Amino acid sequence: MLINKSLYQNSVKPKSLSVFLRKAKRGFLCYLSGMIRILPLLSVLCAFVANAQPAKNNFVMGKTTGSLPYLEYGLGFDRLGAAKLTFLDTNVVVKVVDSTAVNYKVQLSRDHFAYLQKSNFKKDSSIKAQPYYLTASLFASGDDKSDYVSIALDERLPYRSIQQINPSRIIIDVFGATSNTNWVTQRSSATEIKNVYYEQIEDDVYRVIIELNHEQHWGYSIYYENKRLMVKVKRQPKDLDLDKIKIAVDAGHGGSNTGAAGISSNIAEKNYTLLIAKALQKELEEEKATVFMTRVKDTTLGMTERIDMIKKEEPDFLISIHLNSSAKDSISGVSTYYRYIGFKPLTQFILNRMLELGLKEFGNVGSFNFSLSGPTDYPNCLVEVAFLSNKEDEKRILDPEFHKDVAKKIVAGIKDWLKSCKKGF
Ligand SMILES: [Zn+2]
Repeated sequence: MLINKSLYQNSVKPKSLSVFLRKAKRGFLCYLSGMIRILPLLSVLCAFVANAQPAKNNFVMGKTTGSLPYLEYGLGFDRLGAAKLTFLDTNVVVKVVDSTAVNYKVQLSRDHFAYLQKSNFKKDSSIKAQPYYLTASLFASGDDKSDYVSIALDERLPYRSIQQINPSRIIIDVFGATSNTNWVTQRSSATEIKNVYYEQIEDDVYRVIIELNHEQHWGYSIYYENKRLMVKVKRQPKDLDLDKIKIAVDAGHGGSNTGAAGISSNIAEKNYTLLIAKALQKELEEEKATVFMTRVKDTTLGMTERIDMIKKEEPDFLISIHLNSSAKDSISGVSTYYRYIGFKPLTQFILNRMLELGLKEFGNVGSFNFSLSGPTDYPNCLVEVAFLSNKEDEKRILDPEFHKDVAKKIVAGIKDWLKSCKKGF
């Protein structure tokens, strides 16, 4: 995987605070010190008034905007960008308290802060900042396809989600919200959700706990319907045989984004991810699975574009194919990646099977900040088949028979995983 920075988060270095606010504050202080010399009594009064009414406009209210806005924990950066806290819906109310080169620092609750890309913020001076907002009822129900939890709120507030395993639970934290929830209605039409309840974990952080019936997480989507925060929970498919399953397959890179290059052959990663993805498509279709390919040609596709395409298709899960690269040519082997712990099992089963090809183990990697591992909507597995920067691995990557072998092993891993899901209830 060679990262094209424009597709990911830009590197960010903290800069100074808002210069404008500083200047305004400094001017006021100069004026005040002059007054102190001349009129001590008045200065005490001024100081009292200033303390009683903190300087106005030391924050800006606004809303999230643009495509797939997200929050980051801090200003750290590596080749995939700062660690992401969550994706957010648009028109979520945020309070900006500081600014860096490309990010705004936003205050989520009294004690929680995060960073939002400036391009994902739209100022709205009509929004009045509140010390906290109230929640209302919780409601869990289902339709013929999915379960839903609806969280009634006063405002479209920022949130985050956490996946937990053993037992499997989805945790939703709503920032800036204080409970006025006196009803938690749960209907039997919700078949994947076992229980819904809440905890007020901090004065202004409201936590909703969704217990699942199955061990395996199948994904969930969080979005607003007016001021109701909705969590759409995917159910475990009734039939876990491949002929009833829909799988999205993403061939990494493409078009102008060529990816890594072979150390001896100089081949482009984008062409070989496509060959392997097509071999996987063939194997899966032989098993009568439904396959959605993000690309079947040498197409340039952005990450947001890919995510939008995949979400629209509502696959049961996603497999992304990449080839790895390292500055050290001695590094080799296969690795699989996930972001959320609930999606780990698929990646572990696939890695176990891939190792049967005699590739070295680079490892099973969690919390991975790869864009396509980011969505919570479906389980997903990134397979970094082998290293283009290693001569031995490269030789195998060039062999068409190897593409078929890789495809067969990925399918075997998928089958192992589906089998384990059958047992897991
Ligand atoms: Zn790649």
